[in-house]
Amino acid sequence: MKIFISADMEGATGVVRVAQTDHREKEYEFGCKMMLHDVKAVIEGALAAGADSVLVNDSHWRMINLDISEFGFGDNVRLISGSAKLLCMVEGFDTADAAFFVGYHAMAGTACATIDHTMSGSAVYSVTLNGKELGETGLNAAVCAQRNIPLALVTGDAAVCAEASELLGCGLVTACVKEARGREAAECLLPEASADVLREAASEAVQRARAGKSPVMDIGDGSFDLRIAFHNSKQCDEAAILPGTERLDGRTVRVTGRDMTDMMRMALSLISLAAS
Ligand SMILES: [Zn+2]
Repeated sequence: MKIFISADMEGATGVVRVAQTDHREKEYEFGCKMMLHDVKAVIEGALAAGADSVLVNDSHWRMINLDISEFGFGDNVRLISGSAKLLCMVEGFDTADAAFFVGYHAMAGTACATIDHTMSGSAVYSVTLNGKELGETGLNAAVCAQRNIPLALVTGDAAVCAEASELLGCGLVTACVKEARGREAAECLLPEASADVLREAASEAVQRARAGKSPVMDIGDGSFDLRIAFHNSKQCDEAAILPGTERLDGRTVRVTGRDMTDMMRMALSLISLAAS
């Protein structure tokens, strides 16, 4: 069984403030350390449960956060490092038997959720797919679903675990490493305790995936209506220049299609334009 891990930083053990996830800030070193801590615990749990190989995609910001020299596994573990990548947070997912989203965070606008945002905190107000508002968990799970790849594990704060469970049902394994007490404050498990939680959850996720019990997100009949609302109309002006988009109102553009991979690429392009 081959496991794909999309690793973000905001949902890692002990990470509570944006500064800890920002490479321009001195607190960033801590964020990298804890992201690596959580990823390693998940890999250990997956391998202990019999996963044959693990491919990790560094999925946060510049995507060079994980120090490959600190991994310490054999040649059955690999790391995709750097950006830009065609599929961003799920680059490399397509050859896996199951996906894990590690260190994830809740969608923009979630109350009491650590560093809640959707793809770009500065540009994106909300994203909806076929009328349902989704965060990064839902959008990336939808890309996996088009190839029939299940999402077996989500780790992060209590808010993202709840968001993921609501979306994917009880077949999904979640591992909660902290409970937010605000956007930039949380009650956190200590690293030793969270490592145990993450290892156990990863092992259980591998077992469920092997038994065919991990959920594939329901993406309907395969026709997609993706709407992105930006924080302001100037950002929308920039995004709406891209051919194939339809401007719905001051802050919202819409794209439609039948391929979720293309929809994700459109979303990445629109957000990149809006944030420029
Ligand atoms: Zn991130």
